Amino acid sequence: MRENWQIQFAESPGVLKSPDCAQTIVRVQDLEIGGGEFITMAGPCSVETEFQLMATAHHVRRCGARILRGGAFKPRSSPYSFQGHGLDGLRMLARARKESGLAIVTEVMSECDVPLVADYADILQIGTRNMENYSLLEAAARSARPILLKRGMMATVADLLRSAQMILDNGNPNVILCERGIRTFETATRNTFDVAAIALLKHVSHLPVIADPSHAAGYRELVPALSRIAVAAGADGLLIEVHPHPEKAWSDGEQSLDFADFEEMMTALDPYLALRETVVKDSPATRSLEAVG
Ligand code: PEP
Ligand code: MN
Repeated sequence: MRENWQIQFAESPGVLKSPDCAQTIVRVQDLEIGGGEFITMAGPCSVETEFQLMATAHHVRRCGARILRGGAFKPRSSPYSFQGHGLDGLRMLARARKESGLAIVTEVMSECDVPLVADYADILQIGTRNMENYSLLEAAARSARPILLKRGMMATVADLLRSAQMILDNGNPNVILCERGIRTFETATRNTFDVAAIALLKHVSHLPVIADPSHAAGYRELVPALSRIAVAAGADGLLIEVHPHPEKAWSDGEQSLDFADFEEMMTALDPYLALRETVVKDSPATRSLEAVG
């Protein structure tokens, strides 16, 4: 690895590739995240109703998603917007897991909710607004659940890796990094999708990397193209917002795909995933991985 990055990421030695660890595989149910299979996590932004969640769970599973997402505790820009159903939302997620067989990823926003959310979730999501909330990270790490760590919208790659290191330092090696777009001068999209960060993270770190084109784009029309780009950049999977009626969604409807669009996107991704098999094997990142492995 270049000296430049060794210096920039010097605070996070444990997340960097090394002879001891070239790739972390996070195991959830029968899934291996970071293990070569491309894993799609999909579902609504917020858990709204039993019907909305069950219908979405069955649909995304049929289309090839392996993990169901859905927020029961919602970080909203306005404190007056819908904040999520809390425990009722977690119960709906548990029923959806039972009915669909999908694993569950859901956000935890507060340190004191960690034990509750960890009782229901297979993966704890730390949202962009909490990436540097170290007391939350510590509590989440100690729950021993795998953690999907979203990049802060104004965080550098070094900041993200530092937070990941902090989770490792608290005894939890099962960290999944997530690029979800950052704030730049560009306002035409909700955030700026930093695909270079995906390539860089795959190059320097042994942790799995998931791309979230929904929050990066902010507009559903762009989500399929950004998903293809994420595949090409080497991401280990996607996080996609899907809703039966996006125009009626209680949060993030503009960026949510409806069922038909999600199905079309997943089908259209297949040739890119097939190509990835060959390209990723021969990439400089993989070669350097073999060199340390
Ligand atoms: C979400 O996943 O719905 C969410 C709130 O994500 P972020 O923290 O990236 O904004
Ligand atoms: Mn959302």
